[in-house]
Amino acid sequence: MKYVHEYRNKELSQKLINKIHHSAKGKYTFMEVCGGHTMAIQKFGIPSLLPPKIKLLSGPGCPVCVTEKSYIDTAIAYARLSNTIIATFGDLMRIPGSTSSLELEKARGSDVTIVLSALEALKIAQNKPDKKIIFLAIGFETTAPGSAVAVVQASKARVKNFFILSAHKLMPPAMKAIVDEGVKIDGYICPGHVSTITGSAIYDDIARKYSLPCVISGFEPLDLLQTILALVHQVNEKHSTVEIQYARAVQPNGNPKAKAIMKQIFCETDSEWRGMGNIPKSKLVLSEKYQQYDAEKMIPVDVEPTISDKGCICGEILKGLKTPLDCKLFGSGCTPENPEGACMVSGEGACQAYYRYQSQTEIT
Ligand code: SF4
Ligand code: SF4
Repeated sequence: MKYVHEYRNKELSQKLINKIHHSAKGKYTFMEVCGGHTMAIQKFGIPSLLPPKIKLLSGPGCPVCVTEKSYIDTAIAYARLSNTIIATFGDLMRIPGSTSSLELEKARGSDVTIVLSALEALKIAQNKPDKKIIFLAIGFETTAPGSAVAVVQASKARVKNFFILSAHKLMPPAMKAIVDEGVKIDGYICPGHVSTITGSAIYDDIARKYSLPCVISGFEPLDLLQTILALVHQVNEKHSTVEIQYARAVQPNGNPKAKAIMKQIFCETDSEWRGMGNIPKSKLVLSEKYQQYDAEKMIPVDVEPTISDKGCICGEILKGLKTPLDCKLFGSGCTPENPEGACMVSGEGACQAYYRYQSQTEIT
């Protein structure tokens, strides 16, 4: 497979590991803010290949994990309305709300259907004009353009029964909030897919104002090792710039078409993040012109009061203050089969990554 074997080469990996060991002079803490990176780091046993003075922390990288509980409660309330179909990515089905989940609501008779894209949800709306279709629009800058395209197409085709419930989050405000909160890190492993859309400039502020090295990384072992080496070098040289390690996918300017359509459809607003509180200008909602597609504006619903998690420390994990191993429920009270919190449900969640790959250290 192109671009996989090359980036899993054991000899080259070993050379990079040696270089990292040789270059690491002091102590370093780097944070990844991408669920794909969390999974890859655990899967390939990257922490065990590094000198102990380099610590890797998982941040708020998984869009499912950071989606606030009140959003799930709202989606559940919509699912209970008659004449309504909830169209959602599969990962959201098992996320616990305050007293239920979408999976449970479906079992109880609600119309909840799994889709792979916003356009698929739009198609359902066009095929079922007597129903209201609410698409659960979650994800970072990676998936927001897809929701934007669906809204534009709905507008062009004059579709009246398609709505989105937006939880599209923006990555840089969360990266800044983590540092503002006092979490001590020496650099960011910046997300690969997000950056294919946005380009590298969104991290300029973090590098400049917060003096934090930022390296946009790919997802294979060689990518991550190169990224860590680049971060170590920047720290050693007291440098803080934005580098693109994942140059085979990320252009400095990102994807101008995707950025343009996001700007056309969405505007920024403050938002709650699971366990992280309110982060200013961290969410995308439909702009005034497209409000007829905004579920919250167009379809009133009573949402039950949100009940906070007991025992689950997802919030502290998402801020890099704790790791899944610090959670008393990890592996006993909480497993992928019986998850207590979002970080164990999601395929990109830190708890699931630790659970699945804890013991693995080999690059295969
Ligand atoms: S969508 Fe891609 S960039 Fe975003 S968290 Fe998942 S793997 Fe990372
Ligand atoms: S192991 Fe489960 S309960 Fe503990 S933090 Fe992770 S998701 Fe929450």
